[in-house]
Amino acid sequence: MSDVLLPSAELAYSAPDAAGFYGPYGGTFVPETVVPALAELAAAYEQALADPAFTEEFAYLLRDYVGRPSPLYRADRLAEAVGLGAVYLKREDLNHTGAHKVNNTIGQCLLARRMGKKRVIAETGAGQHGVATATIAALMGMECAIFMGTEDIRRQALNVYKMRLLGAEVIPVADGTGTLADAVTAALRHWVERVEDTFYVIGSALGPHPYPRMVRDFQSVIGTEALAQLEEKGVGHLDAVIACIGGGSNAIGTFYPFLSALPADQRPLLVGAEAAGLGLESGRHGAALTKGSPGVLHGFYSYLLQDDAGNPLEAYSISAGLDYPGVGPEHSYLKDEGLVRYEGVTDAEALAAFALLTRTEGIIPAIESSHALALLPRLAAELGSEAVVMVTVSGRGDKDMDIVREAGLGG
Ligand SMILES: *Cc1c(COP(=O)(O)O)cnc(C)c1O
Repeated sequence: MSDVLLPSAELAYSAPDAAGFYGPYGGTFVPETVVPALAELAAAYEQALADPAFTEEFAYLLRDYVGRPSPLYRADRLAEAVGLGAVYLKREDLNHTGAHKVNNTIGQCLLARRMGKKRVIAETGAGQHGVATATIAALMGMECAIFMGTEDIRRQALNVYKMRLLGAEVIPVADGTGTLADAVTAALRHWVERVEDTFYVIGSALGPHPYPRMVRDFQSVIGTEALAQLEEKGVGHLDAVIACIGGGSNAIGTFYPFLSALPADQRPLLVGAEAAGLGLESGRHGAALTKGSPGVLHGFYSYLLQDDAGNPLEAYSISAGLDYPGVGPEHSYLKDEGLVRYEGVTDAEALAAFALLTRTEGIIPAIESSHALALLPRLAAELGSEAVVMVTVSGRGDKDMDIVREAGLGG
């Protein structure tokens, strides 16, 4: 069971090396005070992976608490509407708490408990990672504090309320633009001060080593399940696999098992959908891989939206979960190696895809996930009307009702 859920290091196509580098990307660019804590974490993670008690409890909670495996659903009316042969949706929206993020928070909170930490902290943008962390902290009886930008607190009031209901303290971060990047900075700063009793649960496949690798491993359940489900359904050939990219955790969790299990000539085209916001040329987007350049932010080296002096630029997207100026380091590596293709999707394209899935299938996706769905018509044009494509629906759209109503959907 454990082997099924966590791809073994031997299978990996490469990367990261012992210092957490994916080619030139990743690493540990942090204040010296945090270095021992990260080394301790990396060692504890290696031990945990080798301990069946850990991997079995992880598998148990994913099954009986989250409700995994999440279905792989063939969306025929959607496929017809976009002009593809078949579209398979990996339904992370059906997970307990409504998105893929819970897969990772369970893994990290189990690790925190194993390391004897009684308190977890996290940063959150859309509020989804905050809710997922507060949920698992409640489940495990741990103290929990969530850092969240003031602008995001305004945009995601319901999730803030949920976190408080679950017993978490929500700490507003008014610095900078009051969004995700500022919340990450505040959480990292806080962790430096409280590192003896506090575990920092990072919400995407980013941050200093070993976080990108840990988060990828915990989220790889998505792609691992999908490979087994495709086989079960007798889907012998898949032309493309799509996922949206904020920090990149649902995407790497989807892609990594395809990258590590399949040789290049049998691998579908892997495509990541980045937030192009108001347009790639507008300066108002979150497309770090498409429009950014390599630099250091939040403890790791990766593609980043930055000015000439190396200061991070404000990212923008209609979805709070995608407006981060950086991206996980493994995606930077995959881009440079040509193993994954990354494309920008605008707010308007995402909203159109949101409306399309809602009306054709009765599934209301998160606006983040709608960015991935928006690539379907483009892939139909490129791959033809017989092509078979899988999309990871990273979360459900309940949290986005106010935003889509403001955007005028549904009249
Ligand atoms: C947070 C979030 C994302 C973006 O995060 P990744 O780490 O890139 O997966 C995407 N979809 C949903 C539903 C989210 O909540």
